[in-house]
Amino acid sequence: MALNLIMLGPPGAGKGTQAERFAKKRGIPKISTGDMLRESVKAGTEIGLRAKAIMERGELVNDEVMIGIVKERLARADAQDGFILDGFPRTVAQAKALDTLMDGRPAIVVIDITVPEAELVRRLSSRMVCEECGLNAEGVELAQMSTTACKRCGGRLKQRSDDTADVVRERLKVYKRDTQPLVDFYRDRSTFRQVFGAQPPDRVEKELDHAVKHATKTEGGRR
Ligand code: AMP
Repeated sequence: MALNLIMLGPPGAGKGTQAERFAKKRGIPKISTGDMLRESVKAGTEIGLRAKAIMERGELVNDEVMIGIVKERLARADAQDGFILDGFPRTVAQAKALDTLMDGRPAIVVIDITVPEAELVRRLSSRMVCEECGLNAEGVELAQMSTTACKRCGGRLKQRSDDTADVVRERLKVYKRDTQPLVDFYRDRSTFRQVFGAQPPDRVEKELDHAVKHATKTEGGRR
């Protein structure tokens, strides 16, 4: 049966890394709204032009725009046999819209990755991303930034423009105010699971696999 998975958790929790691993294993698309927006910014589309300044401040792009983007993406052929959403929903309004979009599809499995705030700040301030392929490289010293190449494609690593200290603070504030309430929104569903994310990525991956297996087994696929 199609697996429709969403990843909740604060910025820096490892949602993107885990979503990518999981998507590869399952052969389903990883749909990252942050990546889609960054591509729009790069391409200079109308949405990109509007989103750029908002993202650079660490705020959220408006719900209507985001719901429109996701609706269109989930309607594509490759998302019919399942998908992993990374970075959406981020507000209760987005979560409600997603429920409507899921009408007639297997229930979403919700994985909330939890990480203490001090660890998030440490991770985000030392995170590098590849300009070419978007791979995350954590723990690269800032001083080595210009000499370290992406291990997947050899591209140049740089700090994300919204990973600077001020913007990270704002993103965490926005997360607590707008996104954390989603934990309560989903908590009572039989497909909701939490995974502790302040562990080595391989360990998180194992626990996530287990959580998804368990969630789909107890649910039988319907909300
Ligand atoms: P991310 O890569 O998921 O950390 O997203 C980077 C930025 O893109 C966020 O800080 C927001 O400005 C914007 N963004 C991504 N997904 C959403 C969403 N679902 N709703 C609103 N803004 C979003």
